[in-house]
Amino acid sequence: MDSTYINEIRRQFPILNQQVYGKPLVYLDNAATTQKPLCVIDRERDYYLHENCNIHRGVHYLSQMATEAYENARRTVAAFIHAAAPHDIVFTRGTTESLNLLASSLGQLLIEENDKVLISAMEHHSNLVPWQQMLRQKKGQLLVCPMDDNGVLDLQRYETLLDEKPRIVSIAHISNTLGTINPIKEMIGMAHKHGIPVIVDGAQSIAHHYIDVQSLDCDFFVFSGHKMYAPMGIGGLYGKSDWLEKMPPYQFGGEMVDQVSFEATTFNKLPFKFEAGTPNVGAALGLESAVRFIESLDRNQIEAYESALLQRAVEQLSEIEGLRFIGQAAKRSGLVSFVIDGIHPYDLGTIIDKMGVAVRTGHHCAEPVMTRFGIPGTVRASFALYNTMEEVDVFVKAVKKAAAMLR
Ligand code: PMP
Repeated sequence: MDSTYINEIRRQFPILNQQVYGKPLVYLDNAATTQKPLCVIDRERDYYLHENCNIHRGVHYLSQMATEAYENARRTVAAFIHAAAPHDIVFTRGTTESLNLLASSLGQLLIEENDKVLISAMEHHSNLVPWQQMLRQKKGQLLVCPMDDNGVLDLQRYETLLDEKPRIVSIAHISNTLGTINPIKEMIGMAHKHGIPVIVDGAQSIAHHYIDVQSLDCDFFVFSGHKMYAPMGIGGLYGKSDWLEKMPPYQFGGEMVDQVSFEATTFNKLPFKFEAGTPNVGAALGLESAVRFIESLDRNQIEAYESALLQRAVEQLSEIEGLRFIGQAAKRSGLVSFVIDGIHPYDLGTIIDKMGVAVRTGHHCAEPVMTRFGIPGTVRASFALYNTMEEVDVFVKAVKKAAAMLR
């Protein structure tokens, strides 16, 4: 893609235009969080300058304005992922809260003693620990679909695990450690043949790929705003209305109730039943701006461009002696994870940081993945639409230099 176009995009992210340790910042930690464009920052600021008010409660002007803006944001997010209705979107703090909500609420609805939940071997801790803890209370069992040495899930094993009748399947769309794009549509279809609902962890996919929850036919899709150019503290849970209607509330308090007495309480309709307390209105409006920002771009071109960034990084890193990629699926997205013989990822990350290059080192909140590959952690570079080919070159050069120093 044309570098003028990328430079125009970069201008909307002032944070990128700075030096660290006297070197231009090369930000390659986008899988952890993306930077925010001016339109998102401005929207949140405008809200606090002109519209701040608690929502759904007041009859006065500001409250009605803020309520309308918040509900518009819900409509925008629903349309963005092609949800059937705005009330299928529950605003949460992000992927982690959405998954905790599901483990608690869907767990209460579906899981009885000795029941099972199926996840994969490449899940983020957020899509592992909530299920594990909930199952402990029910004396249930976590089933784990294994992967091969390239970081590709074993679909034959998946089929046999479905025969064990798990009550819920919860799978990452894209692995935050390996970059693997899982064949979720196929996996959803397979689970549905057994009558099992499927949750998709979309934390790593929503900013980079078209998401159509109805075409995927997933029962739930969860995501974080801060990984899609929106503020921190906001994210979402999409659920098919049939499920959301049947599920019990997750948290109790204001807003999620209909009528309350000392003896009993009835609950509000969707989606408010799942939104107890005062929400992060400003961040929701920022999320709406982020969606509009993504929608304003040529998304096919952006997808191809991000894939070209990845390819360039992989090609150049392959030249480094003793470097081993962790995750080599044919279908990968947005990030490259690797280790170099005899060098601790943390040491490498610390040295290239001093060269201005920000990457993530460690287990990336996926310790079982590290155990599977027998490593303490990886170095992970993850890309976003504002990264340039030159930045990839600077990154690889920095890795080569650091590796030479550490050997
Ligand atoms: N799932 C995946 C695949 C992720 O990459 C992340 C964030 N690294 C999470 C869940 C958790 O997201 P958050 O911290 O925004 O709740």
